[in-house]
Amino acid sequence: MNPHQDQDLNHTLFERARQVIPGGVNSPVRAFKAVGGTPRFVNKAQGAYFWDANGQRYIDYIGSWGPMILGHGHPAVVAAVQKAVVEGFSYGAPTEREVELAEAILKLVPSMDMVRLVSSGTEAAMSAIRLARGATGRNKLIKFEGCYHGHADALLVKAGSGLATFGNPTSAGVPPEVVQHTLVLEYNHIGQLEEAFALHGNDLACLMIEPIAGNMNFVRASVPFMKRCRELCTQYGALLVFDEVMTGFRVALGGAQSIYASALPGFEPDMTVLGKVIGGGMPLAAFGAKRAVMEQLAPLGPVYQAGTLSGNPVATACGLATLHQISQPGFFEALSRQTRHLVEGLQAAAKAHGLPFSADSEGGMFGFFLLPQLPSNYPQVMATNGSRFNHLFHGLLAHGVYIAPALYEAGFVSAAHSSADIEHTIAAAAAVFGELAAL
Ligand SMILES: *Cc1c(COP(=O)(O)O)cnc(C)c1O
Repeated sequence: MNPHQDQDLNHTLFERARQVIPGGVNSPVRAFKAVGGTPRFVNKAQGAYFWDANGQRYIDYIGSWGPMILGHGHPAVVAAVQKAVVEGFSYGAPTEREVELAEAILKLVPSMDMVRLVSSGTEAAMSAIRLARGATGRNKLIKFEGCYHGHADALLVKAGSGLATFGNPTSAGVPPEVVQHTLVLEYNHIGQLEEAFALHGNDLACLMIEPIAGNMNFVRASVPFMKRCRELCTQYGALLVFDEVMTGFRVALGGAQSIYASALPGFEPDMTVLGKVIGGGMPLAAFGAKRAVMEQLAPLGPVYQAGTLSGNPVATACGLATLHQISQPGFFEALSRQTRHLVEGLQAAAKAHGLPFSADSEGGMFGFFLLPQLPSNYPQVMATNGSRFNHLFHGLLAHGVYIAPALYEAGFVSAAHSSADIEHTIAAAAAVFGELAAL
């Protein structure tokens, strides 16, 4: 891609990184493996932008994969973190700020009575499953193909050969016995869901779902499908676990569950997993449920769970300041409007070039597909032409627009993205769509 690779500091850094870090990255998708080329090494970020090692500026639609809903370096958040840092990095003893953050979260997500704070979404989802199993005395769980819940062993699994069989590991190093209790179903497939409950309902501890799946780009669980998930969990005594690590405080102030509750009066999940936005860019995540379930956790109950850095004082300061900002009146209306502006602009530009294109958004989260219709499950998402997506990715990058370097990832708009940023992005996309249409 770059004719002057010897002067490309991203390239130099990537070469250095690959000597000491596997693949040069600390999380695989950063490596640009799907799209090819050299990952951009970030030097600094401010507002809607970051700058790479060459000093090149990009409009950032990843936002650290979701957390940076206010944009980078929001002054109120920076001030809260600076104040917290001088008071100490970590104590290993409780603090008032953890109580404040727990209270703030519970006020915004009323389906939970109590939360426990942890350090990553992976840890929160893994702990939620242990708690669901401990609270129900059952072992089996349902997950859906294309949903990501972090990299705990029991969740690195793909569907087995039929509904009567359980899953197969998707990673080396996960013994088949560890995923033998995990049933993997197709997203939005009511018939399969009913069949799975009929076969295994009485042994199910929980059903875990991304209500708007952001790890297969952007796919909504349909309202009838979600309604059936709720009914079957209630009927069989399994816990409905919403993984809102991505959607929580991102698609709406009350998370995706508030959106399903407006379509299905009284709707609530039994347990919620949170991360990303609640830490505002710091390592912080949480899981919560009704009191009777949460009281099964140590030190009150028999389900063990712990963490040296859990409820970290700097991370909780960052999370609290972030939640405070996004709770201001009109915040989500403005963010949703800006995100819709982007998605509608992309859609119009694609249409003008006669390209198959579909897109959707909710709050500050969006997805688009080089497909004529929005997909409703993972196989449909993966029908996207990968090489066309890669052309689009690199074309946008050359115009200073940074989207996720893989076609199965959602995008994120922050409150710092201006209308001029959005217009620049749409114009860049229109130029690349022109190239794609000519291919
Ligand atoms: C990001 C994500 C996770 C994992 O969170 P980490 O903090 O990366 O461990 C879990 N579930 C969902 C839905 C996510 O988007």
